Order: sequence, then structure tokens, then C-alpha cells
Amino acid sequence: MLICIFAIDNGSNMIYNTSMSYLAYKTKLKLNNQGKTLMRQCAGYGRWLWNWALDFKQKAYIEGIKLNKSQLRKYYTNYVKPSFPWQSSLSSRIYQYVFIDLDEAYKRFFKGVAKYPRFKKKGKSSNSFTIDAGGKPLNLGGKLHKFPFFGWLKTYEKLPICSTKKVTFSEQGGDWFVSFFIEVDFLPTEKNREKVGVDLGISKLATLSSGVVFENPKAYTKALKRLARLQRDLSRKVFQSSNWYQVKLKLAKAHRKVVDIRQNAIHHLTSYLAKNHSQIIMEDLNVQGLIKNRHLSKALSDAAFGTIRTQVEYKCERYDSTLIIADRFFPSSQLCSNCGYRQKMPLKVRSYDCSRCRTRCDRDLNASLNLENYHAIQAGVDSRQHWVAHQDSGWLDRFKICGWGAADSPV
Ligand SMILES: [Zn+2]
Repeated sequence: MLICIFAIDNGSNMIYNTSMSYLAYKTKLKLNNQGKTLMRQCAGYGRWLWNWALDFKQKAYIEGIKLNKSQLRKYYTNYVKPSFPWQSSLSSRIYQYVFIDLDEAYKRFFKGVAKYPRFKKKGKSSNSFTIDAGGKPLNLGGKLHKFPFFGWLKTYEKLPICSTKKVTFSEQGGDWFVSFFIEVDFLPTEKNREKVGVDLGISKLATLSSGVVFENPKAYTKALKRLARLQRDLSRKVFQSSNWYQVKLKLAKAHRKVVDIRQNAIHHLTSYLAKNHSQIIMEDLNVQGLIKNRHLSKALSDAAFGTIRTQVEYKCERYDSTLIIADRFFPSSQLCSNCGYRQKMPLKVRSYDCSRCRTRCDRDLNASLNLENYHAIQAGVDSRQHWVAHQDSGWLDRFKICGWGAADSPV
């Protein structure tokens, strides 16, 4: 399954300031059992080497010697590799990246952003490894691709003709995937709306002030149910029996499906936002704080607010739009989007019934409208005047969605 594909808009003759950016692809490989075994052997080789290098580095450190990646690699190639003949039947490209990865892991540790690198255990750490074509570009495209060492491999999905420097193979739930980056020129898109307020939710993925609603996909709820059922099944099987392994594999696949569906929905939402709006205004959700609330935690981590924000950020850069994060204490759900009155709104109340102007509006839409008018509200400007000044931004449609009659119009 192709997980991260973003549309590339380059059909226009107009000259724009383009932004260079990387596009990440991850797609499933079509492998027979022989192919899968070879992949696992390569991953095992990578794991063995990681453990050797980590152990050697630690021992050297105790002796007062600090080894860098090229010293480690040289020592390994000249003194260690020759005594393990099985390693010469596997790609030598694998070990280049093990040393690079270990070096990166140490750098992250010293920067204080990651834990100290750990030994990898078969079955516990994920099976993956990276190879390149020795500095030459790796050309991909269509469904059949030529990789160094492996030769021709098929993918289920057609890839655009592109070239990359390195590819990573990884196993998830019994299937193998190839992932890589390509450099792409992004062109700013034509925006059909100036401002949009986005209310991120639990029952719905997002409600936009334009009236557009992104629901959580139905397939997602279904996949979640299957996941729960398999989890129950697994607990009834004898630990490490063949039945247990079978259910465990099914469970891993179900997990991946849940993640894929969610990721796909989030990519759709964030691309739509960045491509079609000049300014996107979102709440600054204190995700860490909310996750401590155990009633909300599961649903929240599922909605993956953090991921949404990160994606909107980089896609805004790509398509030349701006992301505005509203202050954490901005009461987007408590304000009336029509008259600005503030009232308490417990989570279970799904509709905003204003006690001052009697406006009735869907809770999430009301919040997104307040976010759209964030700057005006913050500046203390009457939101009515603000709306009148922006009649072309679709306020009439919003009234229709809210179910307000023409008589209730603030104009
Ligand atoms: Zn009101």
C-alpha cells in the first residue's frame, strides 16, 4: 500500500517561486517466500552488525578510545568480516548504513533528544535495513524496479518515474515495504478561500469554518472492532503455540490497517487545508495535558492531533499558505460565533445555543467559525463587522449550514 503520496501540481505555465521539498514514499513489495527469507537474512545481518558495533564501541570507550564511524567500519572490514564467511553472501551495502545509523543514534543521544542506543533483539526490534547503489542514482518507476543486490523486484502499486539515493526495506505484519525520498519542486496552489478555521475533534476528524466536515473514515471504526476481537482471540491462545503465532500475525496486519487508514485520512485533510486556503487557523491543543485525562486519551491519540499539526506546517510551506495557531486559552468552543457572548460548554453538549442572541449552531462549526475570526476577536473587533467586510468568504453558506433563517442574519 502506498502510504505517503502527495499530488504534485506542475501543469501550469506560470512562473512561481517554487519550494524544494522531499516527498516520502512507502509501498508494499510483491515477494515470494524466497524473497522474504532473503530480506529477513539481510535484516538479521544488519541487526548482528549493529549489536557488534555497539558492543565494540562500548568496549573501546572503556579503554579510553573513541571510535568514529569510519574507524569502526575499517576495523570491521579488515579484521571481523573475514572470519564470518556467511556475511560475504549478503549485500555489503547494508553495513555502510548500520555504521551511519549508529553514529546518528549517538549524535541524537548526545543532543539529549534520544535514549542511549540499545542492542537489537530478534523478534523485538523491527526488521529493516537500508541500501544504496554506491553513490549512483537509484532509478524507480512503474511496477518493476531494479535494486542493487536484489535485482528486479515488483511493487503492488505503480510508482512515478523518479530517482533516489537510498532505499529502506522494512517488515510490518509479515509484509515487506520499500521506502525512499525524492526531491520535488512544489508550486503554490491557487487558493479558493482566504481564511479557514479548523476545529479538530474526536467524533469527527475536523470541522472547517467553510462548512466542510472531515469524518473519521468508516473503515477505521470497522478495523478498530476487528483489532479488539483479534486481541481477545490472542489472549485465549496458548502462548507461543502455532495458533498463537497465526493470530499474532493477523493482529499485526490489523494494527497496520488501522494506522494506514488514519494516516490516509489525515493526509487528505492536511493537503486539502494547505492547498485551498491562504490562512489556516487551528487551536493550540495541549495534547499532553489532555492525554492524562483517561476518558479522552484513546480517542485523542487516535485523532493524532500532533501529526495533523506537523503535516499542516510542512504542507503550508509547500503550497505557500500560512498556519496560525490560536492561543491555548482562546475559548473557541465557549464563544458565540454570532454575537461573541461567552457561556460554559460541557463536552457532551453538541449544539451551541446562545443565551443572548438565541443562535443555534453545531458545536464544532461554532468553534471553527470563532477560530476563523480569531484575530478579529482577539483584537476586540465586533465579529459581525468583520463578517460583513468579508462577505465573499461564504458566510451565507455557513448560515444555511447552521440552519439560520435570513431574518437571523447579522447583516
Ligand atoms: Zn449569540
